[in-house]
Amino acid sequence: MEWALIGASTIAKDYVINAIRAQDGHSVRTVMSSSAERGAQYAQEQSIPHSHTDLDAILADPDVGAVYISTTNEKHFPQAMAAIAAGKHVLCEKPLAMTIEDAVTMVRAAEAAGVTFATNHHLRCSSSHRAIRDVVAEGRIGRVLSMRIFHAVHLPPHLQGWRINDAGAGGGVIPDITVHDADVTRFILGEEPVNVVAQMAASGMGSGVEDSAMSVWSMPSGAMVMTHESFTHPFAGSGLEVHGTEGSIFASGVMTQQPVGEITLVNEEGRTALPYSNHDLYVQGLADFAGAIRGEGQPAGTGWDGVKALAIAHAVRKSAETGAREAVNYGGAA
Ligand code: NDP
Repeated sequence: MEWALIGASTIAKDYVINAIRAQDGHSVRTVMSSSAERGAQYAQEQSIPHSHTDLDAILADPDVGAVYISTTNEKHFPQAMAAIAAGKHVLCEKPLAMTIEDAVTMVRAAEAAGVTFATNHHLRCSSSHRAIRDVVAEGRIGRVLSMRIFHAVHLPPHLQGWRINDAGAGGGVIPDITVHDADVTRFILGEEPVNVVAQMAASGMGSGVEDSAMSVWSMPSGAMVMTHESFTHPFAGSGLEVHGTEGSIFASGVMTQQPVGEITLVNEEGRTALPYSNHDLYVQGLADFAGAIRGEGQPAGTGWDGVKALAIAHAVRKSAETGAREAVNYGGAA
């Protein structure tokens, strides 16, 4: 399977090229950049044979079987629709699109075309998150009462561009990080919020978009979820907690791209460290995607997972804007 990278991005360079190349028989054939010069330099630095500025030329190449879309967020929809129309498998970055309607359209188009479509929600590929999900699903903490996610980080200087000052490109911490927390919540609890209340702030990084958000979500089971996302917290650390009637899970340092962190189960028997493997999150995501192309299971994050995470993030931003409790509109997601 030869891949085209749509977007000469940091995430492709730092994680996804390696993850593609880690799959048997998968390679990166070409990269698309809006700048011929940057694309050529990126291709050279990453040992990619070709670079293009023309998406149609890439999609017309019969040797390209799959595309990885990691451009800025407003470009995901048109690029994914073009790739699907060309019959390519699509691994798309989060947030899938700028609107729920567009995200639903992408996923339905992929289903109609019979191509594999996935959302790159990497955290559900983490062994730590999978271990937490299993403990919850096995009932080891009893009935879940609440979950708290701490995802206030400090955006590194080299990423302080469109994310912090360009609403048109899909900037802001809510489309960037709240979508991940939405996906993690759904993944671990196995249910999705009905409504949310939220506040957001521009606390000092960038302009024109929020750099911090806090929200509380109501789950169908009655459980409550609290999340905190920010670009401006250099020393906060990350983590999540799940509290149930029979036990609590404390996971520190796990809201990250690295396979790190500590998970402790606390119950009547005391404190138990939960083991997990340290596989690369992105390699796992690509393995699941490659398997789905072969007809073996689903991608780790499906298109519908991407739609639902986006829907929750949109409800968070809407609630922060209106000051009201907002129902999550899943747009008819399956
Ligand atoms: P980047 O800012 O690195 O790249 C986005 C686009 O910006 C590129 O497609 C590129 O355009 C342009 N660009 C990159 N470098 C330069 C430069 N030096 N000068 C001018 N333009 C430049 O974004 P990220 O890699 O951080 O994010 C890309 C996407 O991936 C987003 O949708 C984001 O939400 C998602 N993401 C997902 C993560 C995950 O773990 N799932 C983690 C990080 C990001 P061109 O292609 O035209 O050259």
